[in-house]
Amino acid sequence: MAKVEVQIPGPLRVHTNQQTKVEASGSNVSEVLANLAEQYPGLKSQLYEADGSVRRFINLFVNGEDVRGKQGLDTPVNDGDKIGILPAMAGGAELTPEQVRRYHRHIIMPEIGSKGQRRLINSKVLIIGAGGLGSPAALYLAAAGVGTIGIVDFDVVEISNLHRQILHGDADLGRPKVDSAADAIHRVNPTVNVVKHNEPLTSENAREIIRQYDVVINGSDNFPTRYLVNDVSYWEGKPLVDGSIMRFDGQVTVYAPGYGCYRDLFPTPPPPGSVPSCAEAGVLGVMCGIIGSIQAMEAIKLIVGIGEPLIGRMLIVDALNTEFRELKLRKDPNCPVCGEHPTITEPIDYVEFCGVPHETALIG
Ligand SMILES: [Zn+2]
Repeated sequence: MAKVEVQIPGPLRVHTNQQTKVEASGSNVSEVLANLAEQYPGLKSQLYEADGSVRRFINLFVNGEDVRGKQGLDTPVNDGDKIGILPAMAGGAELTPEQVRRYHRHIIMPEIGSKGQRRLINSKVLIIGAGGLGSPAALYLAAAGVGTIGIVDFDVVEISNLHRQILHGDADLGRPKVDSAADAIHRVNPTVNVVKHNEPLTSENAREIIRQYDVVINGSDNFPTRYLVNDVSYWEGKPLVDGSIMRFDGQVTVYAPGYGCYRDLFPTPPPPGSVPSCAEAGVLGVMCGIIGSIQAMEAIKLIVGIGEPLIGRMLIVDALNTEFRELKLRKDPNCPVCGEHPTITEPIDYVEFCGVPHETALIG
């Protein structure tokens, strides 16, 4: 039975009282690991799978040599040998073993890898509205490991929300949506930092809130908020993943600074009452899942820096006929916000302009 020194990597030191080196004994690597787990029970789940086999993501070294080039776990050890433990992900040293396990199916894709996963973990996404679109977007982004998710919503959960707003359940009726949303997100991924903005987005607070995030997902379903989010995201230089739904139809696009904005399509809000809201026209709940999930996908692409974002294109979804069409969006040089001679340079509260009472805002 040899006594050896085991070098503990940073992410595992929480289980060894922050000791960088600990003593363990055994006649081979396998026995040393078992003795280590016996001394420091917190290490057990880091070193072993549930079935008792050594985790695939742990690389082991004896005196600096990888045991895979020797006799593996049966490699014999002698007194004074140094055993090194290294997470298997090359270049993924900043991911903890727990993160490597949680995001494994991401990390093994070359487009994401540990680098892309770290970008997700370090990213901050703001979701406007914990409603129909915000629900699937928030859940998928949380599951994907987006480190900070901000949610702007001041509503409470109502029973008519539940056919589409999957962040909330029956037991949440009457609760503030931001609270219910935070609970749902933490059920999926307790490591996400949820920032609750339990207030309406206004000309007063919009810039300060949006400024704190990397990407904005628009899940609002009223024109005052839609225009405010568009304008402020443009001024703050934040990509805006915009989505909207009605009945069986959906639209989704990405407005990136320098590539136009919502006002290039619709320079000013429609007069009050000229366009029906979801409350008036209805919406099939699944539409939120389709469009909100595409919004989450686009946000992930922007954060990781992969693929072709939905910039300058609008995807139109007709679910009744199962048709996906694409429209090319034109940048308007006369746009009042992003055009050559902007006429709108300050946030506008269209609440009064549109005559939409705030209580019915954020239906999405
Ligand atoms: Zn514009």
